[in-house]
Amino acid sequence: MQHLLNYINGELVNAHSQQFMDNYNPATGKVYSLIPDSDEKDVEDAYQAAKSAFFAWKNTSNEDRFIILNRIAELIDLNNDELAKAESIDQGKPHWLAKNEMIRSAQNFRFFATAAMQFSSESHHMEGHAVNYTLRQPIGVVACISPWNLPLYLFSWKIAPALAAGNCVVAKPSEITPMTAFMLSKICQEAGLPKGVLNIIHGIGPKVGSTLVSHPHIKAVSFTGGTSTGKHIASIAAPMFKKLSLELGGKNPSIVFADCDFEKAVKTTVQSSFLNQGEICLCGSRILIERSIYDKFKEALIQEVKQLKVGNPLDKDTKVGAIVSQLHYDKVLSYLQLAKEEGGNILTGGEAIHLEGDLANGWYIAPTVIENLAYDCRTNTEEIFGPVVTITPFDSEEEALQMANCTEYGLASIIWTQDITRAHNLAAQIQSGIVWINCWLLRDLRTPFGGVKNSGVGREGGWEAMKFFTEPKNVCIKL
Ligand code: NDP
Repeated sequence: MQHLLNYINGELVNAHSQQFMDNYNPATGKVYSLIPDSDEKDVEDAYQAAKSAFFAWKNTSNEDRFIILNRIAELIDLNNDELAKAESIDQGKPHWLAKNEMIRSAQNFRFFATAAMQFSSESHHMEGHAVNYTLRQPIGVVACISPWNLPLYLFSWKIAPALAAGNCVVAKPSEITPMTAFMLSKICQEAGLPKGVLNIIHGIGPKVGSTLVSHPHIKAVSFTGGTSTGKHIASIAAPMFKKLSLELGGKNPSIVFADCDFEKAVKTTVQSSFLNQGEICLCGSRILIERSIYDKFKEALIQEVKQLKVGNPLDKDTKVGAIVSQLHYDKVLSYLQLAKEEGGNILTGGEAIHLEGDLANGWYIAPTVIENLAYDCRTNTEEIFGPVVTITPFDSEEEALQMANCTEYGLASIIWTQDITRAHNLAAQIQSGIVWINCWLLRDLRTPFGGVKNSGVGREGGWEAMKFFTEPKNVCIKL
């Protein structure tokens, strides 16, 4: 059985505890590799390595940083299939989807490699008196903590800008999906990333993650994960005056108006509901449909959803793979029960799927569509993060907006309409950090990424990320 290792000071090493934890393949429900059960001592080793590497890395020229980060991108591309297969086995997502995500992970490194070359800062002239310029300097050693749903993609989305801006990093992937982060360690060695610049520690959140967050000398924490974990992290980091970027949960609305491009809206809504088993923070899990097309849309949606093949993530024709863990599988099933208790009518799915042979103990749930629920009930306001969506009719733009804004989350929203004025009006009024109009998951890496309300604090992406990972210092020179 494969033993994963921590990546500290450029070396692959075991945890001090010499203990390992089980890593499961969700498709089979079986343990297939072992992860180091790291603790404070490993975090401290990683911090010391990062601290020692910082002076040289921050003084490395932007061009040399570009060359190394770009090399990492190239190696991810070269190993696309191997990484994608590993991601699929580790997370449960279809292999074809993992291949796309590996392309996106390479793009993250490539994008921020070029950002290192192009980042600039402002200057402010006080006519006749003084000139101010802003020095943007790396923070030092920073922590990056990522979740299990898009493992390497979200891991690289943090690490790449942190390194590009000249910081050294101690990073923790989710203990549930550690494999591609481990493989990234080897890629970094091959790419010639200097020792200690990036350190990857495996282990559980309350031990490794907490130690990183409360470490007195780690001055910035970039975290993506659940809202309650984010709240806990903020409660520790805020009194220590750390810079914090929190990308948290969502309960995103898809609003479908009668004047939409019907076929496109149905097809994309199937994707925005069930891609990656619905385990994407940007999935639209509340589908609000204008009443005049409610029945027609419902029928078309159900017909498409019934055709989604749930199966072995490694099979080419699988559209919905396995749920990431037993714990999460139980959570999603508990919401199906809650939906029934709240009066929901299950139109399709609504149950676990039991496959055969090697997959008999895997965690599979049928893509589920539910109607007849109050727009503000628990099923419609709490994050389920699985292959479960609800449909609800509305009568007016105002009502759609009220329903869309009724949760404590505000990450993304999707609007389907051909009326450009309405689209602009709604985009301005809807409470979310990202609005997609007549599309979904179209991502330009330069745009600000993040949520409002309980979906987070701060923004990632483009210059936002470069600004987060640097401290601005104003220098004023009297003329
Ligand atoms: P969690 O909050 O459980 O975990 C996220 C990461 O934090 C993991 O690496 C976890 O470690 C770690 N962690 C857990 N406890 C602590 C702690 N006390 N201190 C520091 N770190 C800790 O989220 P999930 O992994 O379950 O991810 C799903 C959530 O992520 C959903 O709510 C989803 O909406 C959100 N998400 C948000 C995105 C966004 O951009 N806004 C994007 C993707 C997901 P470990 O797993 O090893 O315990």
